[in-house]
Amino acid sequence: MRTLISGGTVVGPTGAQAADILVEDERIVALAAPGSQVVTAFAEGARLIDASGRLVVPGGIDVHTHMEMPFGGTYSSDTFETGTRAAAWGGTTTIVDFAVQRKGEALRPGLDAWLAKAEGNCAIDYGFHMIVSDVNEQSCQEMDVLVDEGVTSFKLFMAYPGVFYSTDGEILRAMQQARTNGATIMMHAENGIAIDLLVSQALSRGETAPRFHASTRPDELEAEATSRAIALAKVTGAPLYIVHLTTTGAMEAVAEARGQGQNAFAETCPQYLFLSADDLAREGFEGAKYVCSPPLRAREHQANLWRGLRTDDLSVVSTDHCPFCFKEQKELGREDFSKIPNGLPVVEHRIDLTYQGVVTGEISLARWVEVNATTPARMFGLYPRKGVLAPGSDADIVLYDPSATQTISSTTHHMNVDYSAFEGLAITGRVDTVMSRGRLVIEAGRYVGDKGHGRYLPRKTNEYLM
Ligand SMILES: [Zn+2]
Repeated sequence: MRTLISGGTVVGPTGAQAADILVEDERIVALAAPGSQVVTAFAEGARLIDASGRLVVPGGIDVHTHMEMPFGGTYSSDTFETGTRAAAWGGTTTIVDFAVQRKGEALRPGLDAWLAKAEGNCAIDYGFHMIVSDVNEQSCQEMDVLVDEGVTSFKLFMAYPGVFYSTDGEILRAMQQARTNGATIMMHAENGIAIDLLVSQALSRGETAPRFHASTRPDELEAEATSRAIALAKVTGAPLYIVHLTTTGAMEAVAEARGQGQNAFAETCPQYLFLSADDLAREGFEGAKYVCSPPLRAREHQANLWRGLRTDDLSVVSTDHCPFCFKEQKELGREDFSKIPNGLPVVEHRIDLTYQGVVTGEISLARWVEVNATTPARMFGLYPRKGVLAPGSDADIVLYDPSATQTISSTTHHMNVDYSAFEGLAITGRVDTVMSRGRLVIEAGRYVGDKGHGRYLPRKTNEYLM
């Protein structure tokens, strides 16, 4: 099966050019000048996709999703089937989700459980990081085995005491292991011990509304935890990746470490670029729709986060997609904000929302591709199979209409959740056509994918290590 994508503007991390893309079966075989002899010869008998007026970009890679994630007595509302389908609608063709080690168990049963949930259900390719919630000698030894098998990143939590939380000693021990096996340690950097005290004090004062979710998780406790994680990583020499960074202070800590040559990296998420603590303070219980951790911050951080994306202090945009329905799920916390399940539905909107940064001049077109696809692929061992349009790479290709307009709404989104955190937001740009390993998934506004198409991706280690 041959496919010719012609007439588009191909965008990669180094810029844009007019080029046609030649696809054979699941792979890209060549990029060629439009109208060149090789194109004419290839076109014979090939399926033709007209990309004129479109940006042609590598399929997005979202390295932070939580499908069917158990949290606070419920599960995130997107399954691997509905979540990967929604991702595809939004131009994402690879997710890296998080398998969870249960306390008292080994890593392996957790990984096997998540592999089983995903198997046969994904519309796009997928990989896994591993959440280590029980750091001990055995789980550290097991990390080595998983790295060899393609799980090359492990997430630890400085937040959520009693659930995922690791002590500084446990973090140090896991980092020592990562230093020797090449894995990247991903860190949820918030000081959970201090936060839990602030939460219980707030509740005892009768402060139960959603907005207190933000006031009990102040900026400083993210910046402090980020600095502490950086220090622990420096002591051990382990690569560190701060997930969902939200504040200027935390970003400055990462920038300083990077300036000193440390292997420290960070991502942010669209919700921190577009939403703020004001949304948590919406009338009545509406604010529950915006409860995620770290919390949405004061608006003034947003410009700094965009700057970080420009300067590479922030290397990646992921979504931390972890949707909970307003009815019956977010409502669990009606009388107590600390019982509102943490997480937002975002996987479908990452490419579109970051494209607004191109429209407003915050980031370049090339940088848009880099933070959404190329860097996540290189950071998490999927490059050059993913994250770039080049000969030999998987034909994960998105045609993007840069001049279309749309309004985000729960009535039109495809995520399995009953509200949108971006309801009514009018934006420019829209995904037009999505191909995963040579197979069309979205075509002319229709889903034409198949839930069994997505394959598990074993990953190599981080390419950015110095
Ligand atoms: Zn997460």
